[in-house]
Amino acid sequence: MAKQNRQTISYLSNRFEEVGLNPNKRHGQNFLIDLNLIQLLARSAKLTPNDVVLEIGTGMGSLTGLLADQAAQVITVEIDQYLHQMAREELEEYDNIEMLKQDCLKNKNNFAPEVIDAVKRHLAIDENRTFKLAANLPYNVATPIIANLLRCEVVPASMTVTIQKELADRIVAAPGSKDYGALSIWMQSMCDCEIVRIMSPKVFWPRPKVESAIIHIEHRPERRAALPDVDFFYAFVRAMFFHRRKFMRSVAISAFKRQLEKSHVDEVLQSMALGPDARTEQLTLDQLRELCEHFRQKVIEVTGVERPVMENQSD
Ligand code: SAM
Repeated sequence: MAKQNRQTISYLSNRFEEVGLNPNKRHGQNFLIDLNLIQLLARSAKLTPNDVVLEIGTGMGSLTGLLADQAAQVITVEIDQYLHQMAREELEEYDNIEMLKQDCLKNKNNFAPEVIDAVKRHLAIDENRTFKLAANLPYNVATPIIANLLRCEVVPASMTVTIQKELADRIVAAPGSKDYGALSIWMQSMCDCEIVRIMSPKVFWPRPKVESAIIHIEHRPERRAALPDVDFFYAFVRAMFFHRRKFMRSVAISAFKRQLEKSHVDEVLQSMALGPDARTEQLTLDQLRELCEHFRQKVIEVTGVERPVMENQSD
C-alpha cells in the first residue's frame, strides 16, 4: 500500500504522539481521514501528466502523494515546520514534489512570491504544462488563497479544494440569495464553480465544528478577458458589497468620494436605469460588470487618470 493511503485516525494520532505534538487549531489542522474522499478530491482535480499542481497545506502528505502520482510536478506548501518535516519523511520516494516550508500568503491580499516563483519555474520547463490548485485548505486562510490566486501573475486553470461549506455556498450563490456577495461575483465573473461533495465534520481529525465541501472551480479565460480592468473590478465588487444593507447609491457615493461628485454617481446609476432604492445584491453578474465599467469610464472622464485605482474599503 502506498504511504499516502495510511491517513487514518490511529495513524495520525500515533504519529503526533510519537513527536509529542497536537494538531494546531490556529493553522486549521483538520486532516481528512476518509480515504475515499481524499481520492475523490484528487480525482475531481482532473489531473494530467502535464500538470503543475500547487497544494497549500501539506499536512502529513496524504493528498500530496496522490497528486504526485498523476501530475508532472507538485509544489506543496506547509507553514508548520514539524508537519513539513514529517511529510518529508512520508514523501521521500517521490522525485516530483517540491516542498516549501512557509506561509503561502505574504499578507491577506497577496501570495508569497516564493510560492508563485516555484510555480513559474516548473511551468517554464515545458510550454504544455498547466497550473492547477488541489488542496484540503486551512479554513482560516481559504478565502484569501482562492481569491488572490485569481489575481496572480499565473492563474490556475482549476482549483479543486476542500473548504467550509458556508464558504462554498457563498462562492456558488445566485443573485438575490442570502449568500450572494463580493466573493460570488468575483469568482463567477471568471470561473465556473461547482460543489462536488458536502462532507460531515466526522471525516476529519480532529473534527471541525462545521460541515465542509469539495468545490471544483474552473477558470474561464474568455470571461476574464472581457473585464477591462481586473484589479478595478476586484476593488469595485468588494466596495459595493461592503455595506450590503445600504442602498447602492450611498455605497457608491462613499466608495468614489475621492474621485466623483454625487451628481456623477447619479448619472452612472441613471444610465443603467437604477433607481435610488436599488441594492447591489439584486444585480446579476452581467449588470455588475456593466455598472463597474460605467463607473470606471466616469472616473477616467472626470479625473483624466487613464488607469484609475479604487481604494479598498475592507483593508
Ligand atoms: N493536506 C492535509 C490533509 O488533507 O490532511 C492537511 C490539510 S489541513 C486542513 C491544512 C494544512 O495547512 C495544515 O497542515 C496547516 O498546518 C497548513 N497551513 C495552515 N495555514 C497555512 C499557510 N498560511 N500556509 C501554508 N500552510 C498552511
